[in-house]
Amino acid sequence: MGWSIRLFSWGGTAVRMHITFLLLLAWIAAVQWSRGGAQEALSGVLFILVLFGCVLLHEFGHIWAARRYGIRTPDVTLLPIGGVAALERMPEKPSQEIVVALAGPAVNLVIAVVLIAALGLRFDPAQMSLDALQQTFLAQVAIANVVLLVFNLIPAFPMDGGRVLRALLAMRLGYARGTKVAAGIGQILAVGFAFLGFMGNPILVLIAVFIFLAAAGEAGMVEARELTRGHPVTEGMITAFEPLGVTATADDAAALLLRTTQQEFPVLDGAGRLRGVVTRKAIIEALREGSGAKPALEIMEADVPAVPASEDLAAAASLLRRSRAGFVGVVDRSGRLIGYLTPENLSELMMIGASRDKSGTGWLGG
Ligand SMILES: [Zn+2]
Repeated sequence: MGWSIRLFSWGGTAVRMHITFLLLLAWIAAVQWSRGGAQEALSGVLFILVLFGCVLLHEFGHIWAARRYGIRTPDVTLLPIGGVAALERMPEKPSQEIVVALAGPAVNLVIAVVLIAALGLRFDPAQMSLDALQQTFLAQVAIANVVLLVFNLIPAFPMDGGRVLRALLAMRLGYARGTKVAAGIGQILAVGFAFLGFMGNPILVLIAVFIFLAAAGEAGMVEARELTRGHPVTEGMITAFEPLGVTATADDAAALLLRTTQQEFPVLDGAGRLRGVVTRKAIIEALREGSGAKPALEIMEADVPAVPASEDLAAAASLLRRSRAGFVGVVDRSGRLIGYLTPENLSELMMIGASRDKSGTGWLGG
């Protein structure tokens, strides 16, 4: 995720903070300052930091539960609307997804129960009013955790409650159909959130947009996986392309950019092996700096994933989603590049696959 600062790393997961999170802190400080001066500003900022500490522990609840099923999480990012843990994948077994989804809210439940017990508060839903916010700092943190718990359990996929719903639906309807139904319900709830948010809570509008897009994105990803699973990557890859040689320059790449419809150019050595990829962005940047004579080797993205021709299309597509260059090479036994996948050709594949699926002729006619 761009525009984020790495704070620290815990158990193999990098904790990042999005720049806009600083804006939230500045906004809270300004609002509180205007109400009660420096003291209020400080306690407002401190409260947000503690609140997001709880959000982070919630995310680590998911992360540690996922690790039990062998799923790693390279990073978790704090946004003004909450935390986003980038799990490599969600477990497809419904029972496992339920455990991973509930592990986050469980953390908030524990924090709330511990604080309430420590403070000797009797839990009373009637206390969750504006009056309660005038209480002590720790009581506020306890109430915030109850709110986090309840909010996350709303069945708006892909929020935690929605994931539980998807898993339950998947048990009856199958994974793809269950996801589609859960995502539809999530989007309807998101529209409701947006409506409530417009009546005075801008953060809720942001959350609604996030849920709406994330639901569509994840439903699409699941559909893509169902369509591509069991097909070799060679069925979907681009095979007609113009490569660049290792002696090519940025000017050569610019000429190819004009002459073809390609937006990325594999750089191949004399034996046809993939050395890297020159993207349209890199070409334009080189030209803008007036360095058209710069070797392609210097402007290319060198760290590009490649898979053997026998690889499953679904696996290659999931690799593509994680690739920074937006490119996955396909190589033969001797390591020569025989084709590649890009996000554009993958989405075309989905359109073709989905249409064929509907007409009943099967994937790519076969
Ligand atoms: Zn969660």
